[in-house]
Amino acid sequence: MRFRKTSTLFMFFCTIFVSSLLQEERLMAQSSVLAPAPITAAQLKDSMTKLQAELLAQCGDAQKPRIRTGLHQVMEFWRPEDGDTAVFEDFVRSNFAGDQTSIDTLFDRFQRLLEQLDGHMHEIAREFRNQQDLDLGPVRSYDEVFGGYDPSAHVLDDFFQNKLAFTVLLNFPLTTLEERINEGPKWTRRQWAETRLAQRFAKRVPADVNLAIARAASESDNYIAGYNIWMHHLVDDKGQRLFPPKMRLLSHWNLRDEIKADYADQQNGLAKQRMIQQVMERIVTQSIPQVVIENPHVDWNPVSNEVKPAAENDAPSPAPAKLKINNAPEPCSRYALLLKTYRAARLADPYSPTAPTLIERRFNEDREIPEERLQAMLEQVLSSPLVPQVAKLIESRLGRRLEPFDIWYSGFRPGSQYTEAQLDEMVAKKYSSAEAYRQDIPNLLKSLGFPPDRAQYIAAHIVVDPARGSGHAMGAEMRSEKAHLRTRIEKSGMNYKGFNIAVHEMGHNVEQTLSLNDVDYTLLQGVPNTAFTEALAFVFQGQDMAMLGLAAPDAQTEALKTLNDFWGTYEIAGVALVDMAVWHWMYDHPEATPEELRAATLAIAKDKWNRFFAPVFGKKDVVLLAVYSHMIDSFLYLPDYPIGHLIAFQIEEQVKKTGSIGPEFERMAKMGRVTPDQWMEHATGKPVGAEALLAATEEALKKVGAKP
Ligand SMILES: [Zn+2]
Repeated sequence: MRFRKTSTLFMFFCTIFVSSLLQEERLMAQSSVLAPAPITAAQLKDSMTKLQAELLAQCGDAQKPRIRTGLHQVMEFWRPEDGDTAVFEDFVRSNFAGDQTSIDTLFDRFQRLLEQLDGHMHEIAREFRNQQDLDLGPVRSYDEVFGGYDPSAHVLDDFFQNKLAFTVLLNFPLTTLEERINEGPKWTRRQWAETRLAQRFAKRVPADVNLAIARAASESDNYIAGYNIWMHHLVDDKGQRLFPPKMRLLSHWNLRDEIKADYADQQNGLAKQRMIQQVMERIVTQSIPQVVIENPHVDWNPVSNEVKPAAENDAPSPAPAKLKINNAPEPCSRYALLLKTYRAARLADPYSPTAPTLIERRFNEDREIPEERLQAMLEQVLSSPLVPQVAKLIESRLGRRLEPFDIWYSGFRPGSQYTEAQLDEMVAKKYSSAEAYRQDIPNLLKSLGFPPDRAQYIAAHIVVDPARGSGHAMGAEMRSEKAHLRTRIEKSGMNYKGFNIAVHEMGHNVEQTLSLNDVDYTLLQGVPNTAFTEALAFVFQGQDMAMLGLAAPDAQTEALKTLNDFWGTYEIAGVALVDMAVWHWMYDHPEATPEELRAATLAIAKDKWNRFFAPVFGKKDVVLLAVYSHMIDSFLYLPDYPIGHLIAFQIEEQVKKTGSIGPEFERMAKMGRVTPDQWMEHATGKPVGAEALLAATEEALKKVGAKP
């Protein structure tokens, strides 16, 4: 996990429904501002023609393309409240940088001051969260308010209001993803930095639209967060209960993880897994009785769908007096909420000229991988001839035919030659406090092949804090600040699990340090997207045994890990394709009802299943791929998972090839935030793709002795 300040600029990605009422409010608010002296499009255009001629005469032909682009960009975002034609003309005359020296001055100033702005905003946000994030004693109600406060929430609005955003738009061009992909490799680093500078102001979403998006997001979040199933109250046809009292599982995460855990239960595992699959299908089809959601006062047979008053009591509080017990289905709430997120997301479309749909914003701006390419990569994994081979191997390990829930097969995870207790003891002896871990960072880095001076340099940029939770990494946003490694220390010292997480988080911190302090332009700070920083952190995490001075995992263990990753990627690639197809369907059917969306989602889930899963599972029309809760509240986030697996594999393979992690890690991390493909070309010589994963899987199958 990695915490980063959420910039206002990207706020609306994470968030979206607006009632017609809100829409009306916005129109009214606009017209009241318009009322005194509305500036019309025609007036703006006249001004533009005049200014174009004027600037051309002043700056010369060489500046012609910049003048045209700059004026056009300012006009596109200018609103009546920004001023009349006189204000517009005056602004352009005094802010167009017409020669290289003025452009350089402008660029340098913005780069330096935006680093200060981001850095200090982040510093405030970090300090405000400390009581919640660190092991510092009780969290008071006001600590939560401090923690939830985002000092940068209004920065983008302010920058349009004071016209600094317009200054950037007047002087640096906005780009499309196509341009960044096709032209980017030929750009200078400075051009890349200018591109990222302009992108910060690529949209101007009104506050009420952001608010509507945030509301829809929090409404669907709440729905998902309260969607628990009380497992002891699931009964089979004989009235038997398979799950222990008080077990309360959140859909879909805990339900899925329970399926994974049940592989270890020799006696009831299979029956439990089948039952959970039935529950999941009822959630997806919305045939689940409303009364069984988050309710320990009823017993439910998910096969017959019969509901009765609970015959056993494990409830924390008595049943409500007026509890009506019947099996009336949940009224399609799942799809009603998904529609709300779509309708809210759509409100931002008109304010995002270079990416006018949420689908485009996700792929072209957040991920910067075109949707068609990403889809092709996922289909390459899904239809790989390795799938039936791995499936056969799983069947032989299970001793039975695959069933649909085996998309979550977890049995490839190998055991360790050390017990958890042995490892805990070793780690606790080494690290009795956060300070002890901090002092050892240079040694840990040297063990990964970082040269001593670089290990010292990086370690000097990392602060270690005792975390309240399991740990996280919080990078800095300006060079005068340090990255923070938050790690869990028990009273008896650090344990092995804590160490494993700390090493992962330290991987983030090292990436954060190098990609901020050693990148040539701070405007290029970071990596292309979160999948990259996770991949780099996994490189560290995979070396945890070596860092403890123990033997690295053997070839067989490595092979099983690869097969586990391949099967996980196969599963989540199917889920991602469903998420993508559902968002397209919503954009194609803007007036759809929740019931229509449900029918469409089921059809899409079955279609993907029949195409990519039914051939190896031997069963058609399964809807499990649509059970992920992120589909309802996360605005087309799911494709990030499979792409993350592919990227992690590419990076790992590259590091393995060179044999030394340190220098290779450093070379990669300093590339900064260019497109994923350009970053990966620089890192590995190839664009982002599925080949590394597929090649490693093929090798792994040979190593475990599977027959093709
Ligand atoms: Zn992480």
